[in-house]
Amino acid sequence: MEQVDCVVIGAGVVGLAVARALALQGREVIVLEAAAAIGTGTSSRNSEVIHAGIYYPQGSLKAGLCVQGKAMLYDYCAARGIGHSRCGKLIVATRDAQVAQLQGIIRKAAANGVHDLVLLSRDEARALEPQLECVAAVHSPSTGIVDSHALMLALQGDLEHAGGFLVLNTPLAHARCTHSAIILVAIDGTELQAQSVVNAAGLQAQALASRFAGLEEHFVPPSYYAKGNYFTLSGRSPFKRLIYPVPEVAGLGVHLTIDLGGQAKFGPDVQWVDSPDDLVVDPTRGDAFYAEVRNYWPALQNGALVPGYAGIRPKIQAPDAPASDFLIQGPAVHGVVGLVNLFGIESPGLTSSLAIGEYVSRLLSTP
Ligand SMILES: Cc1cc2nc3c(=O)[nH]c(=O)nc-3n(C[C@H](O)[C@H](O)[C@H](O)COP(=O)(O)OP(=O)(O)OC[C@H]3O[C@@H](n4cnc5c(N)ncnc54)[C@H](O)[C@@H]3O)c2cc1C
Repeated sequence: MEQVDCVVIGAGVVGLAVARALALQGREVIVLEAAAAIGTGTSSRNSEVIHAGIYYPQGSLKAGLCVQGKAMLYDYCAARGIGHSRCGKLIVATRDAQVAQLQGIIRKAAANGVHDLVLLSRDEARALEPQLECVAAVHSPSTGIVDSHALMLALQGDLEHAGGFLVLNTPLAHARCTHSAIILVAIDGTELQAQSVVNAAGLQAQALASRFAGLEEHFVPPSYYAKGNYFTLSGRSPFKRLIYPVPEVAGLGVHLTIDLGGQAKFGPDVQWVDSPDDLVVDPTRGDAFYAEVRNYWPALQNGALVPGYAGIRPKIQAPDAPASDFLIQGPAVHGVVGLVNLFGIESPGLTSSLAIGEYVSRLLSTP
């Protein structure tokens, strides 16, 4: 049986960032990816926003890793020539009753160490974005956008440069956790013995962890899937910054993001689904987008929204439960030597990826 120091399961942005961090520590790393290419999962079905770290509860992993990951990501993009823009975003109140929520958002962000938010009057917001309708807004100058595919290619490049490698078309079937090592079994029956294993299988992380013999079942949280549908805007973007309504319970509201090419899209909405493969955008959901978007952009023309794509949030809490934190379980939690499971790595997972990489490599270097 082949032996290796570390195996990372999943070549999404988080798996690649973890693999890179481990390889940069001098460890031998193999990434096993089920698909034929990197980043074909949730990592290619998101908004590509570099989040500032505004909304998450103080002291949560999401807050800490997002704020740290944002700084690391801007530095990394600049150093590696990865396309990105610190374009900023406006969070808009469209009713007087929402202004108190904006003030709450500023306080929450400050508690997370994000001190650059500014409350704007309607006129100040419209001076920045003349087509915007609102009663007030919060400006977040450190929010941005990134070319997530260029980011993943750079992470893969660093991994390989440090001696690690990537094996595509290799779904892990199951594993056996022993006192001295973890035996991984690929779908074709090939076995691999690893000292450390990181389960970064995204939407499949819980299903995979439940096939790890030796990991107690109660450490695997339930899986729920919250699909987010996007509709693209035909024509030029009316805004230079990202525009968000005040947040909803399960998502951030139907917001406008722009990509580095200047294409605008609206979404994602929140549609709870039963399957992690349910990625078709139902065009009729666009009807609800018109009303929501017109709250802050009344000039939206009928027929301007075209069904785009969908991504699925890997949730670990039921639809009516409060939002969960990232759930990152190392040996100190579940008792399996060398194993780290990453569950519920929804937004801001892209922003946090480099910080998650460091966090996981620390968990695996602590005896
Ligand atoms: C709608 C939406 C919008 C979002 N917007 C943002 C945003 O703007 N900013 C932000 O910071 N975050 C955002 N996110 C979150 C971000 O996209 C994710 O946190 C991140 O992409 C997760 O990366 P990952 O590597 O954990 O998972 P994935 O990208 O899903 O990668 C998991 C990989 O594991 C592989 N895999 C699964 N099972 C196996 C197996 N058995 N063997 C081998 N390989 C396997 C899969 O093929 C896949 O490639 C958004 C998420 C969604 C759903």
